[in-house]
Amino acid sequence: MLRYILVLIPGIFLFAGFYLMKSGEVNLLFRDFGMISFVYFALALVVTPIITLTNKDSIAPYRRTFGVLAFLLATIHMGMYFYMEYMYQKTFFVLAHFKELDIISGVIAFVIMAALGITSNNFSVRILKGSWKKIQILAYPLFLLVTLHIAFAWRFNAFYMMILSSVILLRTAAYLSKKDISTGKFSGNTTRYRCVPCGWIYDEKYGDPDGGIPPWTRFEDIPDDWVCPVCGVGKGDFVPYEEEYEKENTPATVITATLLNPTTLELILETKELFTVIPGQYARIALKDRDGVFYRSYSVVESSERKLTFCIKLSSGRGGNVLKNIRAGDILAIENVYGSFVLQDTPNPKVFIATGTGLAPLINMMRQLPDKDKILLFWIQDSASLFYTELLKEIPKLESHIFLSREEIPGFRHGRIDLTTFSFPKDSEFYMCGNPAMIEKSVSDLKVQGFEKIYHEIF
Ligand SMILES: Cc1cc2nc3c(=O)[nH]c(=O)nc-3n(C[C@H](O)[C@H](O)[C@H](O)COP(=O)(O)OP(=O)(O)OC[C@H]3O[C@@H](n4cnc5c(N)ncnc54)[C@H](O)[C@@H]3O)c2cc1C
Repeated sequence: MLRYILVLIPGIFLFAGFYLMKSGEVNLLFRDFGMISFVYFALALVVTPIITLTNKDSIAPYRRTFGVLAFLLATIHMGMYFYMEYMYQKTFFVLAHFKELDIISGVIAFVIMAALGITSNNFSVRILKGSWKKIQILAYPLFLLVTLHIAFAWRFNAFYMMILSSVILLRTAAYLSKKDISTGKFSGNTTRYRCVPCGWIYDEKYGDPDGGIPPWTRFEDIPDDWVCPVCGVGKGDFVPYEEEYEKENTPATVITATLLNPTTLELILETKELFTVIPGQYARIALKDRDGVFYRSYSVVESSERKLTFCIKLSSGRGGNVLKNIRAGDILAIENVYGSFVLQDTPNPKVFIATGTGLAPLINMMRQLPDKDKILLFWIQDSASLFYTELLKEIPKLESHIFLSREEIPGFRHGRIDLTTFSFPKDSEFYMCGNPAMIEKSVSDLKVQGFEKIYHEIF
C-alpha cells in the first residue's frame, strides 16, 4: 500500500502541473488522467529492463504497482469520457463514434489493459498458470496500441515521443545486454533447475528478469516468495536439472564446430563413452535451450574411437538456433546411436543419392566400400551451398555427379532431380537420403524402371 501511495505522489504533481497549465479546462481533465496513465504504464514496462541492466531486483514489485495504477487511471480516463459524452451528446459513445479510430483503439486498449490489471496479483498467477505469462506479454503490443490511440486523437507530441523512445531504448539496451551474458559472473558453472509440474527451466545464467530475478542469480539466492513464471508454483517444486540431463545421456565435448558454408555446420564431438556406429546410422543429440532439453537426430559422417562427426544444416528451427551458437569446448550430450539405414551385404552395384546434408550418412557408407565401384548423385542448390567436394574426391572408386539445381556453372551438372534420365547398372541397389519430396519422386522413378532394392532415410 505504501508503495502505491509513494508512486502516486509524483503522478499527482504531474497532474496538477498539466491542469494548471491549461488554466482549469475541466472538460479536458479526462485527458490528463489518460496522460498520467500512459506515464505509469511506461514506467511499468521499464522495470524489467532496468533490472536486467542494473541487477537491482528490489525494484521488481514496482512493475505491478505502476501497472495497476496505470489501469486505475485509465479507468478514470474512460469513465470520464463516457460521462461527458452522455452529458453532452445524450448518447453512448461507442455507437456514436464507432468509426473513429481514436475511440476504437482506446476501447480495445482498455479491454486489454483491464485483463492485465485484473490479473496482476499472485492469486491470478496461481490460477492461470501458463496462460498468465501469455496475458502479461500483451503489455508490449498494448503499449503500442495506446500510442496509436494517442496519435489518432492528434495528441502525440514531444512529451509522448520522449516517453515512447525511452521505453524502446531501455528495452533494446536490456535485450542487447542479455545477448551478451556469455561472460559469466560466477566462479563455478551455472546450474539449471526444472519446475516439476510444468517443465520450465530456471537457468542461473538468464535469471527471470520478468519475475524480478536478474541474470546470474544463484537459485539459492532467489527470494522464497518467487514463483515459477509459467505455472506459479514456488521454489520447492524445482529440482536440479543438469544431473537429470547427464544421467540420461552421455556428455560429448565439442572438439570443432566449423561452418562448411554459411548454413552447414560440421560438428566433431568427443564422447565420454564409446559408441559403435554402423555407417548410415544416426545419433540422437540432446540439445538445450531456454525451454529445456530436446532431441534432434543427426547422421554420423565419420566415427573414430570416441569422436563422432556430423554435418548439419543450420535451419531457423529450434535445433538450428542452438547449434548456430555452439563453440569448441561446449558440452552437448548424446542419447544413443540408432538406425537401420545401413549397407546391405550384397555384391550388387551401389548407387548413392543425396540432397543437401543428406550426404552425411552416405559419406560414411561410401567410405566403407573402398574397393567397390560406386556412383553418387548429389543435388545441391548452388555453388555457395557446396560442401565436402574435396572429401568426395578422396573416396576411392567413386563416380560422383554433383548437380546444382539453381545455378549453371562449368564443372557441375545443372538441373532438377530426375532419375528417369539415368541408366543405372542392372541389379543396382540404391541408398538415398535427403528431403521427402526428392525421396518420394526418386523411389517412384526407380520403381518404374524396375529397381526394387531401394533404401532411404528422410530428413
Ligand atoms: C534419422 C535422421 C537423421 C538426420 N540427420 C541429419 C543430418 O545429418 N544433418 C541434418 O542437417 N539434418 C539431419 N536430420 C534432420 C534433423 O534431425 C532436424 O530435423 C533438422 O535439422 C531440423 O531441426 P531443427 O530443430 O533445426 O528445426 P525444427 O525446429 O524441427 O523445425 C523444422 C523445420 O521448420 C523450420 N522452422 C522452424 N521454426 C521456424 C521459424 N521460426 N521460421 C522459419 N522456419 C522455421 C526449420 O527451418 C526446419 O526446417 C536428420 C533427421 C533424421 C530423422
